[in-house]
Amino acid sequence: MVKSDIEIAQSTEMLPIDEIAQKIDIQVEDLEHYGKFKAKVDYTALHKKESKGKLILVTAINPTPAGEGKTTTSVGLGDALQKIGKQTAIALREPSLGPVFGIKGGAAGGGYAQVIPMEDINLHFTGDIHAIGAANNLVAAMIDNHIYQGNDLNIDPRRVTWRRAMDMNDRQLRSIVSGIGARTNGMPREDGFDITVASEIMAVLCLSNSLTEMKEKLRECLVGYTFDNEPVTLGQLQAEGAVSALLKDALKPNLVQTLEHTPVFIHGGPFANIAHGCNSLLATKMALAHADYVVTEAGFGADLGAEKFIDIKCRMGGLKPDAVVIVATIRALKMHGGVKKTELDTENTAALKKGLPNLLKHIENINHTFSLPAVVAINAFPGDTEEELTVLKKAIEATGNKVVQSNVWAEGGAGGVELAEEVVALCEKESSLTYAYDQSDPIEMKVDKIIQSVYGGKGSEWSKTARNKAKRLEKLGYGDLPVCMAKTQYSLSDSATALGRPTDFTVNIRDLSISAGAGFIVVLTGNIMRMPGLPKVPSAVQVDVQEDGRISGLF
Ligand code: ADP
Ligand code: MG
Repeated sequence: MVKSDIEIAQSTEMLPIDEIAQKIDIQVEDLEHYGKFKAKVDYTALHKKESKGKLILVTAINPTPAGEGKTTTSVGLGDALQKIGKQTAIALREPSLGPVFGIKGGAAGGGYAQVIPMEDINLHFTGDIHAIGAANNLVAAMIDNHIYQGNDLNIDPRRVTWRRAMDMNDRQLRSIVSGIGARTNGMPREDGFDITVASEIMAVLCLSNSLTEMKEKLRECLVGYTFDNEPVTLGQLQAEGAVSALLKDALKPNLVQTLEHTPVFIHGGPFANIAHGCNSLLATKMALAHADYVVTEAGFGADLGAEKFIDIKCRMGGLKPDAVVIVATIRALKMHGGVKKTELDTENTAALKKGLPNLLKHIENINHTFSLPAVVAINAFPGDTEEELTVLKKAIEATGNKVVQSNVWAEGGAGGVELAEEVVALCEKESSLTYAYDQSDPIEMKVDKIIQSVYGGKGSEWSKTARNKAKRLEKLGYGDLPVCMAKTQYSLSDSATALGRPTDFTVNIRDLSISAGAGFIVVLTGNIMRMPGLPKVPSAVQVDVQEDGRISGLF
């Protein structure tokens, strides 16, 4: 019988976290232990060293319900690099409880390419997300208290943009009325909760290089507008000190290990639509300062994940990827070619050829828009046929890029040696990163450049609201910030059902919102959910725990 992810994870003997730290020369004195197998690493460990590592970004084709396996490939590639003798660290996002109890389940890899202790990582971990929730809600409490106590800042209660946060999928709290009842209960107003990972505090924490910088960014966060339509900041509420104090430990990267004992930083988990969707800058930098090879993952497909990783995170943090791994599965490409999910196990080279242009577009983007070397990792599934593999290899090799099969899900690091060797070779190539747009471009031009070069569309259609907001944001001095696209992850276009490589489309820009603290303008192309709901049968109904603490039902 095939073992489930949690059974594989629980049957693996973990090494003490001190030994994991030693592999990448992190001193025990820089560790703050959370039990035997988890530790936070103090910022001082970063300041002791120069960045030395090669940075490898793992991204993918547009996701389909067939599953791609970015995290699994990232973890397996890290193990494979370790196996061929390279000093390696992996940097990943932290899972949110919402998806864990909803549809997606855990997010610590799969099969024989996982990060452990997977139960802890998926459930609370070291408490960072709760700390972020508390920090967010302190600001919310201070805003309403300010209004209640006389409202010196003249905040319009109808235009408070700061929402409350909780790390749970709970649609019931999406829109609420708060402050009802007696006069002493506050000012009644429409309010609501976002899932914590969608909060701006999460994005700020993930884009800060230091505690001082985080405090500066927090001060800039917009919380709402006055009756005269002037922005009100978190700094005007004098909240940044207390908020930073609540976040002082959450800002420290968490260290854990893979099934094969490769060091992994799991830190920060911003949404990949209204935020940039990758782990913290500090964790990536910590990894680069201590390991020769650093593997990291960006959320969703390369049109969103890699674009924001490069145009937002790398630009802000002064990072440059040395190589990019594009994960694809034959199953998912067949879905892009029109095959139904139930018919994926049948060989179908015609559908594969039809779906392939999706992958080719992402390769083109990495090579040309961002000027980076790429390798395609075919995440192998049992139903893949030789014939299909041959078709795929031929098409990719014609672009001048390599394609390698990855068996890390079934075999762990041993199944990724060929991929690791190719990645090492790519890291030796000279490359100089280019961006999809200049920060100084006007807002509309930044968006159009992404649509034309990265998505392959014609241009954009702006709502009146969006156009007015763009003007207003430029006037308020936010025009030079990067843009953070909030778009469906399923298509290169803004229409979730346009699979493969759509052409000749325009993208509808519905609205803009500003994350002035995190430092980007969110461009909303559709209705973006900031507080998801649970499905009819949530995965929570399967999760259980025994008297000895053993957890079951996570996947
Ligand atoms: P992503 O990071 O792209 O969302 P994950 O790596 O989390 O994807 O994988 C999603 C799911 O697919 C996981 O449950 C994982 O175990 C499963 N999976 C990944 N690769 C394979 C594979 N080659 N064969 C079978 N299942 C796989
Ligand atoms: Mg993932």
